[in-house]
Amino acid sequence: MLDEIIIRDMEAFGYHGVLEEEKELGQKFLVSANIRLDASKAIKEDICEYTVDYGMVCKRISEIVSLERYDLIEALAGRIADMILLEFVPVKNVTIEVKKPWAPVKVSVDTVSVKIERGWHDVYIGVGSNMGDSLQNINDAMEMIQSDKRNKDIKVSDKIKTKPYGVKEQDDFINCAAYFKTIMQPKELLYFLQDIEKRLKRERIVHWGPRTIDLDILFYDNIILQDDELIIPHPEIIKRDFVLQPLCSINPHFVHPLYNRYVSELLNELKSKKDYEKTI
Ligand code: ADP
Ligand code: MG
Repeated sequence: MLDEIIIRDMEAFGYHGVLEEEKELGQKFLVSANIRLDASKAIKEDICEYTVDYGMVCKRISEIVSLERYDLIEALAGRIADMILLEFVPVKNVTIEVKKPWAPVKVSVDTVSVKIERGWHDVYIGVGSNMGDSLQNINDAMEMIQSDKRNKDIKVSDKIKTKPYGVKEQDDFINCAAYFKTIMQPKELLYFLQDIEKRLKRERIVHWGPRTIDLDILFYDNIILQDDELIIPHPEIIKRDFVLQPLCSINPHFVHPLYNRYVSELLNELKSKKDYEKTI
């Protein structure tokens, strides 16, 4: 359970909107923020460094609304949410509502508003390489993840040498797993990782074939999702010792949301199967 600091209907004047008049004349916006954090220490010690300075939050929101320009209040709300998560360290999660009381619609409305929720999420990824300087490729990829301010607290497992899985006629792999916190949404994270793969010159030729770097999302909190582009948890986790073993070295007690089992139990079960494809 998180505690909440609530700012309701803070007024600021800005120039956001799709229409030319909105960009030129400007209008009033009302911003509400529900800022969630663990306030136990602030409650116990009564010291402001353990919580968030809401005066400063209001000042930063007001600067964004009045100095920056967006066509959409969705984009404005997203920018405010990211700012709060990145600049105020104790914050775990925020809901931002941006209201346009003078929205240019031809009927009578009280306000039109957009409400979004954003937060820090726990992510585990699987990493593999068997082309070029594999160790260097993996280190470069980890550096690219770490240096993006939308990610923090990265932990990388030991790197292990493994036999190729699936397509055998290729060089050995180096594999590892990594944990980090991110404010990216699942799809945003997928595209971010695919962009790193591209920057490290990954070419998609053979499915399960040689690659300079492969970055797969294993878990994203405990969500379960499936569409054409993205499946979470990654469907191959339970068959792959080269994924489960590094995962266990970071957090053996992470619970797989589909099987409701610790990853350490899943690794033991995999190893106990006679016909499992051993790569380590
Ligand atoms: P693989 O990782 O299976 O060896 P690729 O890295 O080429 O192969 O990925 C193929 C496709 O898998 C990607 O285009 C991506 O859209 C999809 N995909 C589905 N779920 C995931 C996931 N959890 N993490 C990464 N890619 C995923
Ligand atoms: Mg992949």
